[in-house]
Amino acid sequence: MNIILRPFLEDMKKLERHGINVKKSDGSTVNMKVGLAKLICDNLAQNEILGFKMSFGQGSICRECLTKREDYKTSRLHGLFDYSNVTFECLPRPEKRIRPNDYGLKNECILTELGGVNIGNIMPPDMFHDLHEGCIEWIIAVVLFSLMKSSKKALSQHAIINKMEHFQLYHGRISVDYKSKKFTVYGTGIQKFECFMRLREIFFKEFSVMDGESTSLYMDMAKFVRLASRSSQDFAHLMEMDRLSGCIIDKYVSICQRMSLDFNVTYKIHKILHYAEAVRRFGPLPRNSTLRYERCHQNSKKYGRNMNNWVAPAQSLSQRQALRQTLSFRLSKDGRDGWIEDDIIDEEMAKSMKLTKAKSDQAPFSLKKNVLRKFKSRGFQQKHWLLVDKFLINPQTQQIFCEGSLWCQKDEDSIYDPITGV
Ligand SMILES: [Zn+2]
Repeated sequence: MNIILRPFLEDMKKLERHGINVKKSDGSTVNMKVGLAKLICDNLAQNEILGFKMSFGQGSICRECLTKREDYKTSRLHGLFDYSNVTFECLPRPEKRIRPNDYGLKNECILTELGGVNIGNIMPPDMFHDLHEGCIEWIIAVVLFSLMKSSKKALSQHAIINKMEHFQLYHGRISVDYKSKKFTVYGTGIQKFECFMRLREIFFKEFSVMDGESTSLYMDMAKFVRLASRSSQDFAHLMEMDRLSGCIIDKYVSICQRMSLDFNVTYKIHKILHYAEAVRRFGPLPRNSTLRYERCHQNSKKYGRNMNNWVAPAQSLSQRQALRQTLSFRLSKDGRDGWIEDDIIDEEMAKSMKLTKAKSDQAPFSLKKNVLRKFKSRGFQQKHWLLVDKFLINPQTQQIFCEGSLWCQKDEDSIYDPITGV
């Protein structure tokens, strides 16, 4: 990570030294000082950039208050640990350098070379990952379980899933699953957020007879989310956020124990204790949310899904690009003497031409994928795709044929329908 951040750091140092000259309307120039105020990213990236252990499971600690994960159930600390006098080099470490020390620090953060920056004052919490894709999901799971176990008007598991999935949200419908005493909502962060805030609408009758503690947990969380989402907060709001965060964890732990739910107080849930203090340090939380950047991130996710590669999508993209270039280069050089002109050949023709099954290394492109992106041939439209079962090769000319079926996309959102065999 430090290697990736190095060019950014060098640029920032130059900016710190020279500032930016801004021309005013009267023609005079003002030199504006520049400094790093904060970085916005998810929890994993925060820990990676700051040099902390990238784990939130057993044995991990909250870098904000140094509480161990095992103590999240009982800890109600709101304050943030002051790292202003802590550097990676000054901390006592076990003998092996790669092992984390008591603070969970594993590596140095090079951004601390910048003026006024320490590992505790540049990372505001990210509401989108903590609340929308974290706490809210767990509170929904607890509330839905309470609805199922309610003494009056209890709903069956299927009735709950049915109501949730058929409720028309502004951002479309969500899907719900139930496994090991846990309801899981599938959808985008925004859908989960809307679903949570409208949960009382979805279960209008049942909510009024749900047990008091679960209702109170939901109400506290909804109020906390509203307060945390404000673009300006005063002293009273922050006091209320501190109070609510403690109440939420108290009730969450109590309900899970009462209903024998094996739900942990995760880092994301524990972290809401520090939200008010984070607002005092970094300003209103919506300004630090990754929501708008996550939207742009949808494109990269689309590439990952299409290529079925989440580890190194950039590598797959460059490989494909290289293959495509090689292919066009080869086709222009290679002659096509003896090539069969037909677009479609039947089984009899294939037999008479003595086509054999092609091996993966016999083509200038990958023969492993069974779907060709677009069927480019005379008479076929762009929205025809070919599902390949087998590749055949003409041993004399090295011309490659595919055997499979054609699929047609009727409109943008529809699934593909098979149209014919080839
Ligand atoms: Zn903490």
